Amino acid sequence: MYSPTIGLEIHTELNTRTKMFCGCLNDPDQKNPNTNVCPICLGHPGTLPVINKKAIESMIIAGLALNSQIAEFSKFDRKNYFYPDLPKGYQISQYDLPICLGGSLNILDNSKKIRITRIHLEEDAGRSTHTSNGSLVDFNRAGVPLMELVTEPDIKSAEEAQDFAQKLQTIFRYLRISEANLEKGEMRCEVNISLSKDDQLGTKVEIKNLNSFQAISRSIEYEIKRQSEILDRGEKVIQETRGFDENKNLTFSQRLKESALFPNYPTKNKFVSKKNLISKILILL
Ligand SMILES: [Zn+2]
Repeated sequence: MYSPTIGLEIHTELNTRTKMFCGCLNDPDQKNPNTNVCPICLGHPGTLPVINKKAIESMIIAGLALNSQIAEFSKFDRKNYFYPDLPKGYQISQYDLPICLGGSLNILDNSKKIRITRIHLEEDAGRSTHTSNGSLVDFNRAGVPLMELVTEPDIKSAEEAQDFAQKLQTIFRYLRISEANLEKGEMRCEVNISLSKDDQLGTKVEIKNLNSFQAISRSIEYEIKRQSEILDRGEKVIQETRGFDENKNLTFSQRLKESALFPNYPTKNKFVSKKNLISKILILL
């Protein structure tokens, strides 16, 4: 028998009136593309971001509810990557000094505690639509405040992961900082999962695009089965990012966002950690 080690990364859009660094409306119901945009969230040269105070307050409220330490000093960093829905060529995020550090959430009727590594604040990207005639980009969502919560790898089953995500949604709704609706993309979950045997740690696989609580638990159940079968055959699990197909109820291999844009990128750099992509440039506010 193999023992699963699971960690979650959960992104939640905050329901502030305006965006993270500009005065544009943060309106998830805006149907007309590129309506709530300005030179700041479109990344025009020479523009300066101004922090949304409400977003910081929401972060502190979330951190207090989740037993985190609230930082006395925090800063934002630039995470560089090139993607059409990221007009500046970098995302404003937090690297080494997040607003909330540590924390925990009890699940399964308080019978188990899941430790939280950190909660930081960043900005959301726009939305790309791919058609047969080309790709379209809508920047209404670009610059919307996005809270990223990372757990320690304390989760051991699909049931625990689903319960954690559901509890988190309930807390965010109760605090009125987000509707955290997964189907609308207001809350997005990524699962990191590896299987270990005899205390030997396994290879970590990341699952993205989980749009419902059922998708979280079903993708984990599928991965446990898939990875167990690979290990039973004496083969090695490949470190990769996988998507989840809700209709077929299976996970499938995906290329990394970064490498997809560099077809000739050296293979050994394909799994460069997110941390290495962040240049430590302090944004002067
Ligand atoms: Zn704007």
